[in-house]
Amino acid sequence: MNVLIVEDDPRITSFLAKGLKAEGHATIAVADGDEAYEIAEMPVADYDLVLLDLGLPGTHGLRVLEALRRTHPEVPVIVLTARDDLDTKVRGLDAGAADYVTKPYAFEELLARMRAAVRARDQAVSNQLVVGDLRLDLLTKVAWRAGRRIDLSVREWTLLEYFMRHPDQVLSRAQILNHVWEVDFEPGSNVVDVYVGYLRRKLNAPGLTPLLQALRGAGYRLVPPEG
Ligand code: CA
Repeated sequence: MNVLIVEDDPRITSFLAKGLKAEGHATIAVADGDEAYEIAEMPVADYDLVLLDLGLPGTHGLRVLEALRRTHPEVPVIVLTARDDLDTKVRGLDAGAADYVTKPYAFEELLARMRAAVRARDQAVSNQLVVGDLRLDLLTKVAWRAGRRIDLSVREWTLLEYFMRHPDQVLSRAQILNHVWEVDFEPGSNVVDVYVGYLRRKLNAPGLTPLLQALRGAGYRLVPPEG
């Protein structure tokens, strides 16, 4: 996998990069908190796991961690703490770190924790639906689009799940009504249009492609964004 190392001590970075390379991993190293924060905020992550030192020049590691959690909740972060400092560990875990290791650590232990973090991530990912830049967490019932959290009502959530399980497929109002409201078609009811309208407003933001397309007389379709 591709590991992002955020660490300002060049000896540690070099030790980690060499060890990970020997295990067949690629690494990207960043030594500065501001740069790490910028990378964390980018919409696309080209790394699968982050090793994060908290004491960094520039932006503090905890703020980098928060940005990573917000933008790339699927990427596990292992915090490297300098001291066996309970308060720092607790704050790191509260901010969403998958795990932490205290320096100095045995490399084998770090590798074992990385494997465990990736396993836990894979389990979490199986509880998600993903269509383009849209992600729906089936456990927490929260949607994410382009790194932005979207809170949904139960009805909106059920509707979005239905669309996401049938991407690119035209769903008629009758099908939607039957699936989401569990009632047969009531002529003249516009409840589907109203709720699709709610979803559209929540899922869209300036610069994003609209996802829900209306097809006159036929129904609605979730069009996966390109890229
Ligand atoms: Ca440091």
